[in-house]
Amino acid sequence: MTALPQIDADRLWSRLMDFARIGGTPEGGVRRLAFDPAEIAAHRHLADLALARGFALTLDPAGNLFIRREGTEPGAAPVVSGSHLDSQPSGGRFDGTFGVLAALEAMETAQDAALLTRRPLELVVWANEEGSRFRPGCLGSAVHAGETPLAEALAVVGDDGGIYGEGVAALAAALPEAAPAALGRSFAALLEAHIEQGPLLEAGGQVIGVVDRVQGHRRLDICVIGREDHSGGAPLSLRRDAFVDAIEVCRGLAELCRDETDVLRFTFGRFVVSPNAVSVVPGRVDMVLDLRHPSQEELIRLGDLVHAKAQGLARLCEVRVADSSWHAPVAFTPAIRETFARAADRRGYPRREIYSGGGHDARWFPGRCPTGMVFIPCEKGVSHHPAENVDPAHAAAGAQVIADAMLELAEL
Ligand SMILES: [Zn+2]
Repeated sequence: MTALPQIDADRLWSRLMDFARIGGTPEGGVRRLAFDPAEIAAHRHLADLALARGFALTLDPAGNLFIRREGTEPGAAPVVSGSHLDSQPSGGRFDGTFGVLAALEAMETAQDAALLTRRPLELVVWANEEGSRFRPGCLGSAVHAGETPLAEALAVVGDDGGIYGEGVAALAAALPEAAPAALGRSFAALLEAHIEQGPLLEAGGQVIGVVDRVQGHRRLDICVIGREDHSGGAPLSLRRDAFVDAIEVCRGLAELCRDETDVLRFTFGRFVVSPNAVSVVPGRVDMVLDLRHPSQEELIRLGDLVHAKAQGLARLCEVRVADSSWHAPVAFTPAIRETFARAADRRGYPRREIYSGGGHDARWFPGRCPTGMVFIPCEKGVSHHPAENVDPAHAAAGAQVIADAMLELAEL
């Protein structure tokens, strides 16, 4: 095989800093919600960089942007890598953007070295990954992969009253050079680089995380039903206070699900007391328990335990438990994991196998094409926060692994 070229670490870093200014916040983070003016401006800036290199743009009906460097074999399926440009409302500079710019850097490196690949190289920017404006997240990629019908996505109404389909139209209007792309395209491989969004790589001194899977999640709606009463009139002995019992339920479930290995993620992210009035004994509490774990068996066991035990933890109130969402853990393709591991070893980057705590666009694709992810460390594991930070050398290492893997898979 031809020697693989070195990426341009300075170019990559200065691009990361340029994109951080698009929708940049005074706190040092970014705010780019799906299809808002800042997110569209980031797409436009990326398109300008791509066009300057002679790459071609296409946009699918779900708002996913593809940037293509042709291969030598007409009709060969492309090797695709990318991530997203949208952010949380108070997001960081590297979540998503790093994966996008790593793929661009890989393609520019191939261009600089005038390398010919049999397969085309493509960068993808998935639409609405964060789900912070339009729910659910990973929506553009879900539509592309056939997991969500296009019409359903286009009709989604955002928190601000905006409509997803109008967002796609606004993006298309800002990218007149982009020809239409079909949904459900076939890829020779799909790769995604991302910051870890957790502390393991930094703690272990590794530079590259080869992601073996995205952990699964099981969400349970738990409703505690008591009885509303006058807070001055009703004696404690006669009350059925839903709030007091809900606390017992939360405490008891936290105890039941205690995990000495510290792998389980157990969160009551939503807790709503009704009627939430100062002089009324709470009659009802609705809460959502979010369980995440890399093992499907463990998620099933713990969720079933919640169903079985929740009622017994309440003293006087009725407790109803219902499953509200389920994503099985997703395993990435062994051959792609090996490609990443080889690339890291050749370059001398310390690596480890790691699982992904958060969901990512790549999760829809292992059943459709060889798929994999690489992580780089983020400072103190902080993400979805303006303080999100990475070491420039780690960013360069991640982009180098993506470049090497893309070129290897696209066949020089
Ligand atoms: Zn992300």
